[in-house]
Amino acid sequence: MAEKSKAELLREELAYAPTHAMKQIDEKEVQAADDFCVGYMQFLNESRTEREAVAYMQKAAEDNGFVPFDRAKKYACGDKVYFINRSKAIILTVFGKKSVREGVRIAAAHIDSPRLDLKPNPLYEDEQMALFKTHYYGGIKKYQWTAIPLSLHGVVYLKDGTCVNVCVGEKEGEPKFVVTDLLPHLAREQEKRTLEDGIKGEELNVLVGSRPFCADEGSELVKLNILKLLFDKYGMTEKDFLSAELEVVPAMPVCDIGFDRSMIGGYGHDDRVCAYPSAMAAFDVKDPEYTCVTVLTDKEETGSDGNTGLNSSYMPYFLYDLAAAAGCEGYEVLRNSKCLSADVNAAFDPTFPSVQEKRNAAFINRGVVITKYTGARGKSGTSDANADYMSFVRRVLDDAKVVWQTGELGAVDAGGGGTVAKYVAKLDVDVVDVGVPVLSMHAPFEVVSKLDVYMTYRAIKAFYEA
Ligand code: MN
Ligand code: MN
Repeated sequence: MAEKSKAELLREELAYAPTHAMKQIDEKEVQAADDFCVGYMQFLNESRTEREAVAYMQKAAEDNGFVPFDRAKKYACGDKVYFINRSKAIILTVFGKKSVREGVRIAAAHIDSPRLDLKPNPLYEDEQMALFKTHYYGGIKKYQWTAIPLSLHGVVYLKDGTCVNVCVGEKEGEPKFVVTDLLPHLAREQEKRTLEDGIKGEELNVLVGSRPFCADEGSELVKLNILKLLFDKYGMTEKDFLSAELEVVPAMPVCDIGFDRSMIGGYGHDDRVCAYPSAMAAFDVKDPEYTCVTVLTDKEETGSDGNTGLNSSYMPYFLYDLAAAAGCEGYEVLRNSKCLSADVNAAFDPTFPSVQEKRNAAFINRGVVITKYTGARGKSGTSDANADYMSFVRRVLDDAKVVWQTGELGAVDAGGGGTVAKYVAKLDVDVVDVGVPVLSMHAPFEVVSKLDVYMTYRAIKAFYEA
């Protein structure tokens, strides 16, 4: 090998030049990343809603020795507990050597994803077709949700209070659903609409049937037939839709992307792609110094409001219980705590370069992204992590040889967004966003790199062990 020039050596010493992760890790680690993602892809396939993600993680936690949290109990280093909030959020805790008075380590990711929710009175018939009215959940480009296979997930509470699980359209042989779109031949007027209005909110109607109930005379027999099928299968009547939570999501299995299988395509990477690594870090951490608290939360995509989102008090209340058991105040625990808000960032897309500023954008395959701040315009609506905490996080990742990069959420004034970080910061906890860069974020089919998923796991594990 030719000797390096003086300039090359100096550049290596002084300049920051993020590179492809493959340049920084060996074959063995690449294999470890690919292996790690097999488990992730299975989780993603089986967790299309926050409820399903909680059920999956409850079982995984129990398999890893976690037991339900009991606030009357005193816990010791190495004890592992879980706490479930209303079936839609879960907190996994591994107790550390130090008292919680000295603070805990929190990794917070969200398990809700953009989708179409059924309206409270969704079923109707129009020209002998049965359809569901929907109300979209989270930030979507509405036109992306037409003419793709969809499945229905959720729960229905019957009149007597019985809860019935619903999942149709995922298993081999099951029917699926679809939002129809106009044929191009007749779309001359539609194509004059702006992209934002290409498909309007009230046009996101899901086709669910087209055959009438027997040959009887009467109106709305197609709808009646659907009601009969629903009654036969779930024991539900039309009124029960009001006490239901039914979510329409893409029915496309998770798969490898690319000849080299380096990426993963699927629905709901945002933010299950950070939730899974966070949970795996909780399962793998052994006798940590600080108590490790993994929060998989709901409602991030709609702004974290609601009692299963992180703008509610369920997480601090859980920590107050830990504080009480340790004989200290809840605010002492919070004040001394550190958090990684594990959420995705936008990956640079060479097809759409203008919305990014290349020197400060995240790229797939350059490792876990540290996002110092999100927000919009002049850093509005964000928790801008301070230099002191950035210094800590950076050293943790470097010491553990985690491949990381920095990324802003787009160029200045190109748009913006937020995460749970500001709600954690509100509690007087040090916090910064870290996570996986995503292509086609919030689309029905998003793409991530396997190496980045693995580096996010390594980052959170290193944080728990620091
Ligand atoms: Mn997210
Ligand atoms: Mn999102």
